[in-house]
Amino acid sequence: MSGIRGKNTEPELIVRSFLHRAGLRFRLHAKVPGKPDLVLPKYRTVVFVHGCFWHRHEGCRYATVPANNAAFWKEKFANNIGRDAKVKGQLEKVGWRVLIAWSCQLSKRELAGLAATIGCSRTLRLCR
Ligand SMILES: [Zn+2]
Repeated sequence: MSGIRGKNTEPELIVRSFLHRAGLRFRLHAKVPGKPDLVLPKYRTVVFVHGCFWHRHEGCRYATVPANNAAFWKEKFANNIGRDAKVKGQLEKVGWRVLIAWSCQLSKRELAGLAATIGCSRTLRLCR
């Protein structure tokens, strides 16, 4: 069900509320290629909140391969990876910076790093 990305899933809410508190303003599911979870026009940046299993977080312990139907999963995962890469390319081509928030990396410290990467964080005193 990878193609049908759930809206308002919990990891997405965590990222959203952190960035909001960090003083970053974003739009949700804006109409840009790939329908990123968060769009920050001011920073020309989009953020995808990716589940490690479906989007194959490299080297992640959550990116497991089910024992049954190995061929089915292999194809499914290859499709997901291909789709993600294609969307990233489409976005970058028109000048968007693409950031990924992996669902296993949502600690305060990791999110602060994401906010800093985006360019501004009140908690890190990076805002004007
Ligand atoms: Zn992960």
